[in-house]
Amino acid sequence: MSTIFGLIIEGKIPSKKVFENERILAIEDIHPVAPVHILIMPKKPIPNLQSVEPGDWPLIAELLQVAQKIAEEKEVEEGYRLLTNNGPDAGQTVFHLHFHLIGGRVLGKMC
Ligand code: AMP
Repeated sequence: MSTIFGLIIEGKIPSKKVFENERILAIEDIHPVAPVHILIMPKKPIPNLQSVEPGDWPLIAELLQVAQKIAEEKEVEEGYRLLTNNGPDAGQTVFHLHFHLIGGRVLGKMC
């Protein structure tokens, strides 16, 4: 079953795109927690980081490269957080792997 991000990737639900290529999509988070809050995801429907299979690692590496590029473009390279919530106990709500790139303000400690 497709997730909301699957529907966004298929173009069935609108989003504010920040980056797109054949394998990766980055969009603005609909409920930003900071001035910069971008979601970076593979187009391949991988549920979360624990579901990544050996052949997917080049894709994850590319995704991290995209995150680095977006951080530069958004001028937050001096301080940003890149995280993924893995599973319900971590607060994952959309079961399509995505990394939150958060910045644009002083973030402080994690918890
Ligand atoms: P997580 O809780 O880590 O699974 O993160 C899911 C994120 O997706 C949350 O930060 C939501 O605000 C965001 N989100 C949910 N629906 C949309 C949407 N249609 N467009 C953009 N972001 C969304």
